[in-house]
Amino acid sequence: MEKRPRHRPQRRYPEAKRQIFTSELKVCAHCGSELKLRPNWHVRKTIQTMNGPRFLAGRAKICTNRECPHFGMRYYASQVLLLSLPKSSYGLDVVAYIGWRHEHDQRQFVEIQRELNQKGVEINKRNVGKLYRQYLALLGAASEQIKKKLDAIVEKHGGLIFGVDALQPEGHGSLLYVLYEILSGTVVSAIQLEPPNEKDLTDWLKTYQSYPVLASVSDGEERIIAALRAVWPNAPRQRCQEHFLGNLADEVLENDTELRKQMRVDLGGLPKTTDFPDSSSFF
Ligand SMILES: [Zn+2]
Repeated sequence: MEKRPRHRPQRRYPEAKRQIFTSELKVCAHCGSELKLRPNWHVRKTIQTMNGPRFLAGRAKICTNRECPHFGMRYYASQVLLLSLPKSSYGLDVVAYIGWRHEHDQRQFVEIQRELNQKGVEINKRNVGKLYRQYLALLGAASEQIKKKLDAIVEKHGGLIFGVDALQPEGHGSLLYVLYEILSGTVVSAIQLEPPNEKDLTDWLKTYQSYPVLASVSDGEERIIAALRAVWPNAPRQRCQEHFLGNLADEVLENDTELRKQMRVDLGGLPKTTDFPDSSSFF
């Protein structure tokens, strides 16, 4: 595939649907005070998904309570992690599609590449293989590197904030559940279930039960909430508002020319594609 510059992804897919996220947390996990939105983006990139290109951007929130021992702490918009892995320019749905077609349906990479091209996803065979390896890494046990990162967050913050969300890859009934850690912007692990069920979900999360958890976040799917409750009964839960915020942001972008202008200024000021500050080492 032709190598293209990464610093202006929005020009590559001018038709990309925009999805703007803010941190899903409303209150500081330490002091409980309301979080304030940061003015600039901590992540922005364009990705290819099974449903066409998407422009993703995220804004963090910050604790502004001076009495809080974690005053100034940033909470990132980690819903972006559910849509695309750090540093990846493909959607997680593409990763899941490749994994499922190869693993479950025994399709060869070259066939999968052809299918993806037909669905409008630009990808070569080498990248199909690369995304397949990402899929395997995601479904395997958390690496030593990820464990070290989680330990460091526990050391610094006294606990983790886990988020769990599901996405449905195209063409079959399985769900891909993704576990991520919000304070570090780390994708920890994933599991693909067909049919989705609470027991497997709970067993999967139990692997991480020994970590102290400050809070957990999910999109409200009952199975996820039940599993989170079973594994971390004492952790406060906050509901993720991804869809609501996503739609709202789209509406706002359509209607609010001031914001659009401001967005152009913000985006124009960034030198290159950025990602979660601590999440560069997932693969
Ligand atoms: Zn605080």
